[in-house]
Amino acid sequence: MNCRHCHSPLSLTFADLNTAPPSNAYLKPEDLSKPEPFFPLRTLVCTQCWLVQTQDFTSAEDVFTPEYGYFSSMSSSWLNHAKNYVNQITQSLELNNHHFVVEIASNDGYLLKNFKEKNIPCLGIEPTHSTAEASRALGIETLESFFGESLALDLAQKGKQADLIIGNNVYAHVPDLNDFTAGLKQLLKPEGTITLEFPHLKNLVDLNQFDTIYHEHFSYFSLSSVQAVLKTHGLRVYDLEQIPTHGGSLRLFICHKDAQTLPEKPSVAQLLAIEIEAGMQTEAYYANMQAKIRKVRAQLWHFLLEKEAQGAKVAAYGAAAKGNTLLNYCGVKDHDIIRYVVDASAFKKGRFMPGSRIPIVALEHLMEDKPDYILIFPWNLKPELEKLLEPTRTWGAKLVTFIPELKVS
Ligand SMILES: [Zn+2]
Repeated sequence: MNCRHCHSPLSLTFADLNTAPPSNAYLKPEDLSKPEPFFPLRTLVCTQCWLVQTQDFTSAEDVFTPEYGYFSSMSSSWLNHAKNYVNQITQSLELNNHHFVVEIASNDGYLLKNFKEKNIPCLGIEPTHSTAEASRALGIETLESFFGESLALDLAQKGKQADLIIGNNVYAHVPDLNDFTAGLKQLLKPEGTITLEFPHLKNLVDLNQFDTIYHEHFSYFSLSSVQAVLKTHGLRVYDLEQIPTHGGSLRLFICHKDAQTLPEKPSVAQLLAIEIEAGMQTEAYYANMQAKIRKVRAQLWHFLLEKEAQGAKVAAYGAAAKGNTLLNYCGVKDHDIIRYVVDASAFKKGRFMPGSRIPIVALEHLMEDKPDYILIFPWNLKPELEKLLEPTRTWGAKLVTFIPELKVS
């Protein structure tokens, strides 16, 4: 396989998680008597541009699409994050009703509605019909489409270039990174700004967040690897922030290579120096990941077998990609060991986790069952979930996380 960005041959494995079904392929009861497709889940690193990427194979782009059953407005912390972002960027770019904002993967309008309230013209681009409809119901103009260079050229020809383009948690999920980035270039006004948010690869490595690897997450970025992609397409990073979402993300502020009014701020060189100091442009940095991942698997099995021997009841919370990656990599398939996974989504209730086939239930079920241990799969939401699960302390339940290592509290 060749690099998704620079087309150099790839030979260095970063993390090999064996095989897994698509992480959003939740099973209905009638699916349990059918076979399930499993695909290799392996990430490689390009030793030319240092882009970490999932292994490619035939039809990957058709099978692995982002989790579109997801409505962003369901998460209150995410809504707050969006609102704060809009207030901050409106102020710093001095946006008003003469400007034009485009959000890519605008979902149900959870973010753009904040611009609408400020009377700043905006457009959402969203390929999923159900969420695009929800966005239109809020009065937000929404184009139902995937984003790439041809759509961007089309919009530019209609005079719809943007002063601000927003891509929050979409860039890492794009299969054709070069086409998407070429689209950003075409859609941006000469002195416009693009902001992209994505989990920072340095946190994945340092904090052993290997469960953020799944097929639909095609790219794992360092600052330097994104800079390499942007440079190819005539763009550059002029500022950045490190933000806490998804276990530690970067928010990059990007402009045209030759923008006159947007000089590079010291934050960019500072983070680049940190990455270089850490060795992120050397093979050695990536070579130790697999050993760290295996350690988590050993801890998980040790924990589960010990609790089974003690006759303790073990359940889990969070039927999403992180839990699926962890269970499938570790090969946990037995719902005698993990009785069920609790999830707030009505869509997932009554279904089964892909691969592990552990049943998904509502919170009420856990409150009746009173398990002794609750595994928290979305460790990034632990403070929120500790509050939600506070009543389980009355019967002495303990919360367990496995990333970066086993912790029982
Ligand atoms: Zn490359």
